[in-house]
Amino acid sequence: MAKIIVVGSSSIDLVVTSSKRPGAGETVLGDSFTTVPGGKGANQAVAAARLGADVTMIGRVGDDHFGEAILNNFTFNRVSTDYVEPVTHMESGTAHIVLAEGDNSIVVIKAANNEVTPDYIDQSMNAFQGVDMVMIQQEIPEETVTHVSRVCKKLGIQLLLNPAPARPLEEEVIENAAYITPNEHEAEVLFSELSLSDALRKYPNKLFVTEGSKGVRYFDGENEVLVPSYKVEAVDTTGAGDTFNAAFAVALAEGKAIADSVRFANRAASLSVTKFGAQGGMPTREEVEAQM
Ligand code: ATP
Repeated sequence: MAKIIVVGSSSIDLVVTSSKRPGAGETVLGDSFTTVPGGKGANQAVAAARLGADVTMIGRVGDDHFGEAILNNFTFNRVSTDYVEPVTHMESGTAHIVLAEGDNSIVVIKAANNEVTPDYIDQSMNAFQGVDMVMIQQEIPEETVTHVSRVCKKLGIQLLLNPAPARPLEEEVIENAAYITPNEHEAEVLFSELSLSDALRKYPNKLFVTEGSKGVRYFDGENEVLVPSYKVEAVDTTGAGDTFNAAFAVALAEGKAIADSVRFANRAASLSVTKFGAQGGMPTREEVEAQM
C-alpha cells in the first residue's frame, strides 16, 4: 500500500443555485442550497484514499461546525486526520458559490488554511516517516510550499506539486519537486517566457501538462508525448484535476512506470467527469481497474 501525505487546503463549499444572479445591492430568491466538502488538498486526499493509498492529511480547520464536518468527511473516506489540528477562534475555509445563468461566481475565504504554515509543518515532521510521496497544491501559503519542497528534498521523498491555483514558482521549488502537474493555463503562468514545448523539454519526465479532454503532455527524454484522455460522456468536470493528481501520485508511489501512471490517472480522471460533484465523482480502485 502506497503511503502518501497531502499538505493542503480543506474547505466546505456553500453552493446556491438561482435562476438570476443578484447585482450590487439586489436580493433575489434562489432555488436550492447545498454544502459539500472541498478544497484541493482535501479533494486529492480523498481521491488517493479511494484509489487504495494509505493517506495522511496535513492541514488545518477552524473550531466551528464546518471544521467538524471536514474532519468527519476525512474519517469517512479513511484519510488520517492525526495532523489536521483545529485552529482556536478561527473559521474553517469556505467557498461561497452561486450557480446562476449558466455560470458560477465564487468567493473563497481561506481562513484556517492560512495556518498551514512552515512552523506547522515542522510540528508535523513525524508524519513524514516512511512516506512514498508527498502531494501539495497552492491553496496554502507560498512559503509553506517552498518549505515542504525543502523538507522532501532533505528526506529524499518524492514531491508531486499541483501548481493550482496559478502563481509563478521559484526555480528552487521546481527543482525540488519530482513531478509538476499544471493545467494549460497554469503552465502559461509558470513558464511565461518559454513555449510549452521548450518548458516540457526543460523538465523531462517532471512536467506533466493536463489538457482536459485532449490528454496529458510531457517530454519523456526523447519525444514530446501526448497521452490521450479516455472518451467519456462528461457530466461535470469539477475535480477532474484533483482526481488526476491523486491517481498519478498513487500509481507513481506504487512504483509504476511513468507512462503507465499517466494512463491510470487519465482513466481515473475520465471516470470522475461522468458523475456530479468533485468528491462525489471520485472513483474507487476497483472502478478504475475494471476499465483498464
Ligand atoms: P479541474 O479544475 O476541472 O478539476 P483541471 O483544469 O485542473 O481540472 P484538466 O486538464 O481539465 O484539469 O483535467 C485533468 C484531467 O482530467 C485530464 O488530463 C483528463 O485526464 C481528465 N479529463 C478532464 N476533462 C475530461 C473529459 N471531458 N473527458 C475525459 N477526461 C477528462
